[in-house]
Parts: sequence; structure tokens; C-alpha cells
Amino acid sequence: MVAQAGSIELLRSLIRIDTVNPPGDERPAQELLAATLTGAGFDCELLGRTPERPNLVGRLSGAQPGPTLCLLSHIDTVLANPDEWSHEPWSGDLADGFVWGRGALDMKGQTAAEVAAVCSLASEGWRPARGALLIVVVVDEETGGAEGAQWLTATHPEKVRCEYLVNEGGGGILDYGDRRLVCLGCGEKGIFRFALHTEGIAAHASMPRLGDNALVKLAPLLARLAERQPSYELTEHPRAFLEAVGALQDGDASAALERVRATDSRLVPIVEPMLGVSLAPTKAFASDKINVIPSQARIQVDCRVPPGLGRDAALAAIEQVVGREGYRLEWTEEVVGNSSPIHSPLADWIRGWVAEHDPSATVVPTILPGFTDSSTFREAFPECQAYGFCPHRVSSRFETDPLVHGADERIDVRDLEYATTFFADLVRGFLSGPAGSPARPH
Ligand SMILES: [Zn+2]
Repeated sequence: MVAQAGSIELLRSLIRIDTVNPPGDERPAQELLAATLTGAGFDCELLGRTPERPNLVGRLSGAQPGPTLCLLSHIDTVLANPDEWSHEPWSGDLADGFVWGRGALDMKGQTAAEVAAVCSLASEGWRPARGALLIVVVVDEETGGAEGAQWLTATHPEKVRCEYLVNEGGGGILDYGDRRLVCLGCGEKGIFRFALHTEGIAAHASMPRLGDNALVKLAPLLARLAERQPSYELTEHPRAFLEAVGALQDGDASAALERVRATDSRLVPIVEPMLGVSLAPTKAFASDKINVIPSQARIQVDCRVPPGLGRDAALAAIEQVVGREGYRLEWTEEVVGNSSPIHSPLADWIRGWVAEHDPSATVVPTILPGFTDSSTFREAFPECQAYGFCPHRVSSRFETDPLVHGADERIDVRDLEYATTFFADLVRGFLSGPAGSPARPH
């Protein structure tokens, strides 16, 4: 057992330091973590675009050359409205078996588990046999990472280059029939946002027939977006997910999703976004003036595309749903999806650890519909295999997902202790073995 009391007290301290972004103001939290790591023997640097918002890089080097394992987290949080909470969001209260506060799950809990675990090992004299252990705690994730992961990988790539990375975005439990699924975050969908423009002829709104209203030409496009959705297109990771839960037969994703629904409908909103392109109209614009028939109008659509697919898949989905005519298409934002292999030394080590500590569970590969800093590291370091994993043992994602960015965010101390044990086992097991063969969990 390693440093479990340490992770609880460290988490409470981190929650009490307000790092709501914007503005972030992460420096006091980073200084606390740097002092903790330095005291245990880590070489630490605070590197930031501005003094108020430094990123923390802590390194523990081995005697022999070898791969670098990086434990990545972010220290900023989203805001919280105390009126909606039953414990003050920056209290760090320990009550009813939970640590309460903004960031307990996203993601100061993981930071605390990682730092407490590695400090316990390092202060006992443990060092990597080969390679290096990196603890990287970035700022500014919640607004995209311009001062955090993006700045750090662009400005100081050699200080954070790594072959293996563990970050947020996985480790949660899904109950599924009589089974327990443990999610291994393997990738993130891409973003292919676009606008659909319509055109007409401007006129005074008091004499509508003199004009040609571009706004009403959006109506059929919106109706199709409401009524239809693109057909599923199974890529590697969701295929493996559906196979692991026994839902896939004959490669039919629709039928598989219906089997998932029949077993536990709570999984559908989690599983369906993995299965293909999604289209969600979110903005509309036409005339600025109430008395002018608009000659131009547009809707903007948030489109997410699984890793392995690109703009062609987005275009095919658009044409399938809204047809090819009656609009002009403009691409407005393009980020290709990214992923790491279902099987790799790190992913397989994690599977082995779960098999030992949660024998009835099945590790399933998942793709996030949204974004984490893992995408920045995968892009900066193509050799980097990155996974989202902070294992839980007690609370399921049906309980924790609504708390992330929501009211009464809290973590069960048993889950925090379980994660702390995992991170201690991971760094010891993964960096102690002979080169090329990480030690199996023991
Ligand atoms: Zn987060």
C-alpha cells in the first residue's frame, strides 16, 4: 500500500487552491506540486508562457537509457456555482467517504494520485532501472491548451518527449448486464466543423415577394439534420469495443447498438458517438434587421469524425443527410482524429493490472467524442502511445460522468486509493524491467 493518505490530503490541498480557467492562476498549485516532487527527489522545472501560469515538468531518470513514461495531467478546472453545491466547491471537504470539490474528478484527483504514488516510491529510494519517469502537470487544458500542452510541446519538446503517456479520459467503470467494463481511452474524434450557406435576394420585408428569402431556404436543410443521421462506419476501436462486449455480429453496427440498448440503455449515449460521424447544427445567422429579407443565411454545424476517417467521411455524411443541392458548403475548422493502438506494451500492461486487481472486469477500448491534451502529445511526438486511464473500482461512470463540469463533483476515497495503487504499480512495473519488456504486474 503506497501513499494513500498522501493522495487524499494532497487532493484536498489542490482543491482549496482555486484554478478556475479562465483565468487559471495555476502558479500556487504548481508550486505546491513542485515542492512535493522536489522533496522526494525529482528534478522539477516550472515553464510557462506567463509567470502566473507555469507548466510543471518533474523528471526522475534511470541509470540506463530506455523509454520515457509520462504521467500527464492538467491542474486547471472549469468554474463552479456555489449556490448549486451541497459542499463549497473549493472546500476540499472530506465527508461521507468522498473528497468534495471542483476538480476532484477532472482532474486534480488523478494528479494527486499520481504525485502521491511517485513521491512515495521516490522517497523510499526507488529509481527507474532504465529510461525516465516524467510527471507533467499542465495549465490551460479547459480552454484548449494554448498556454499548456500546446505551448509546452512546441517550446520545450525535448523536456516532455515521451514514448508512453497516461492522461485523463479513461479508467471509468460501466456496468453492463452482469459484467463490469473498464474503459481504456485510446483516442479522440476529429473535428470537421462547417457552414451551410444559402443565398437569395434582399428586399424590404414589408413586400416579401420582391425578394428571395435566404433564411427560409435553410428550413429543409435543418429539417433533414433533425430527421436523419449518417450511417455508422465502424473503425478499429469501436469494433473492438463491440466485440469485447459480445454485441457485434456480422459487422452490423446498428444491430450491435440495439443489443447494447437491450442490455443497458444507459450505454447508448456513450457508445453511439464512437460508431461514426456526428452532425449537430448549433448556430444560425440570417438578417441583422427585422425589416430586411436576407440575401444570405447560414447554419454552422459541429461535426465529429472518428480517428481513421477524415474529411471525405465528413463530406459523405453531409451529402447523405442533407443532400447535395440547395446550399454552399464551407469548411470552418479541421482537426483530424487521433488514436493509439489497442495493443501496445503500455495498453497490455494496463490490461494485466486490471486482470489482477479487478478479475471480473473487461478492459474495453474507447474513443472520446471530445478533446484532451493526449491529442497534442500524439501530434508532437508521433512515436508516443498515449492512453486515458485513471482506474476506478467503486463508482461507475453512470455516477461520475454527470459530476464532471457539474455540481457536487466528488471522488470516492476508495477510488482515489485504488488509482494511487495503480500509478505506483505502473511506474514500478513498467520502468523496472529489462529494456524492451516491461515487468508484468505482480
Ligand atoms: Zn480534464
